[in-house]
Amino acid sequence: MVRFLVLLVLALSTPASAQQEARQLFGAKTGPSFQESASHGGYAKGCLAGAARLNESGTTWQAMRLSRNRNWGHPELIDFIQDLSAKAARQPGWAGLYVGDLSQPRGGPMKSGHRSHQIGLDVDIWMLPPKSLNLSSNEREKLSSISMRRAKGAFTNSSWTRAHHEIIKAAASDRRVARIFVFPGAKVQMCKDEKGNRAWLNKIRPWYGHHYHFHVRLSCPRGMRGCVDQAAPPPGDGCADAQDWVDNILNPPPPNPNAKKAKPRRELVLADLPRECAGVLQSR
Ligand SMILES: [Zn+2]
Repeated sequence: MVRFLVLLVLALSTPASAQQEARQLFGAKTGPSFQESASHGGYAKGCLAGAARLNESGTTWQAMRLSRNRNWGHPELIDFIQDLSAKAARQPGWAGLYVGDLSQPRGGPMKSGHRSHQIGLDVDIWMLPPKSLNLSSNEREKLSSISMRRAKGAFTNSSWTRAHHEIIKAAASDRRVARIFVFPGAKVQMCKDEKGNRAWLNKIRPWYGHHYHFHVRLSCPRGMRGCVDQAAPPPGDGCADAQDWVDNILNPPPPNPNAKKAKPRRELVLADLPRECAGVLQSR
């Protein structure tokens, strides 16, 4: 027992080693670093200095699953969410937005749930229209979002409304936004329903999952050195590409016998992340 305690104390007092799993190091942090706000690295390999916290509740939003402590982001993301929630609140049946995961208090890889969301510029927004913005923290653990998909994501189901279209359009039309991930059937539906300007559809990217929530990714804030943007989506509205996704869902191609097996991914260690991330961990 004594030996165990000595080992435990040693383990807790050892400084973060470059070879330790980053998800353990960042997952253990309960508050932000006392640093100037900065996103270091890329969406799926980085960290967040000086994070701002999305308040648990505002006039037009509620943060969900508070026990996860993932309502932290770059200040620009917090502003964006508040702005979008005010626009959502103007849609019929929407009191605002239920907001899912942003980032951990210091960003970085997570023990569960996402590969990205590491630099405070990603947010998951629930598809469930909020009726009430007076949920207790217990209710925010228990309530679930609802799926919008039918036929494995080839189509939207009867829960999908024009309000979903308008809210996602408002998000994509915001110049801070780089791209939005949503299931293929939703993109095809929006492609059909949009009769006006189609430029915003460029940022809507069909992806796996993403039928209980849509995922908004901001561009790196202006002038932020060391923040790595993802390449912009190809030009055009991307509607033909989304239709290809749907066709593949409806008529899956036969498995390619020559396909190489994907290598299992190695967990990121601290040394994989930008140099600044060690400082983000060490800051008080
Ligand atoms: Zn996400």
